[in-house]
Amino acid sequence: ERARLDRLRHTPAVTLDGEAVDMLANIELPSDAAAAVDAGAVGVGLFRTEFLFMNRAPGDLPGEDEQYEAYREAVLGMKGLPVTIRTVDIGADKPIERMSVSELRHEHVLNPALGLRAIRWSLAEPAMFRQQLRAILRASAHGKVRMLIPMVAHLSEIRQTFESIARAKQQLTEAGKPFVDVEVGAMIEVPAAALMLKRFLHYFDFVSIGTNDLIQYTLAIDRADEHVSHLYDPWHPAVLRLVADSVAQANAMGKHVSVCGEMAGDVAFTELMLAMGLRSLSMHPAQIASVKQRVLRADTRRLAASLETVLNADDPMAAAQTAFRRADGAP
Ligand code: PEP
Ligand code: MG
Repeated sequence: ERARLDRLRHTPAVTLDGEAVDMLANIELPSDAAAAVDAGAVGVGLFRTEFLFMNRAPGDLPGEDEQYEAYREAVLGMKGLPVTIRTVDIGADKPIERMSVSELRHEHVLNPALGLRAIRWSLAEPAMFRQQLRAILRASAHGKVRMLIPMVAHLSEIRQTFESIARAKQQLTEAGKPFVDVEVGAMIEVPAAALMLKRFLHYFDFVSIGTNDLIQYTLAIDRADEHVSHLYDPWHPAVLRLVADSVAQANAMGKHVSVCGEMAGDVAFTELMLAMGLRSLSMHPAQIASVKQRVLRADTRRLAASLETVLNADDPMAAAQTAFRRADGAP
């Protein structure tokens, strides 16, 4: 079985009915690019840059040059394949020693997952945000770079983000530092963003659905709280509907859409995601071979016919007992 999966690595992921699916990698450090290339990924769908910011001495955050070097290393490591660099997603389950230049670290925050996290943190720290934006833009001079914004929920955040990007570009131009005009995408991981997708897509070039947080925020289940982990269920029809509707909306507008949450790397969901119209999945490099195997055996036209049944299920149990669950042989 292992040898068979190894042979699969460089086979293009195309379904039985000829639909090509992009198999992308999620990485956390630039050195993970080697594993991504090795696994046959056709690019990085999610580079979680917060890992450059975490586990450091208090007050020690990576500056523009350090970040630029890290992003360049990832870009060069991918050998010409596209790299989607997400701006920092710190806060909540990804704390850093210094949450903010202000006094926030001394403040007791009751619901960090609902607090100053991801793009909210970046917009609250404009100088640091522009530092990261400049670093990402500078990396674009070395390969195909796309920029991804986490936790977007408000149109005002989108406007501010694009203002910051414009400012960062202007600063680089003035400094004579080369960069390319990169595509900018949004993570769809808050229900508000899924519900506003059509409006948001007027601004963004692409979207990536973050199912880990979309489940947490749709079901009001803390993804890190073991007391309620039995209720953290990706099969909840409300979650599946938000994902399916987002994919349909993006496809209808001709915008690239991908899933980069754990669902993308879970073979139990491969057929379902293909049925929803997804043709791009980003996952841990170790999952690529087994998910690709599912893709190679799938017939998207047949699968699409069963989509309504799962979306109309009463509860997660019923949804998991539809054609999609049986297809992977689980009980
Ligand atoms: C997600 O929320 O699904 C996601 C991919 O982002 P993270 O797991 O880093 O929050
Ligand atoms: Mg997330």
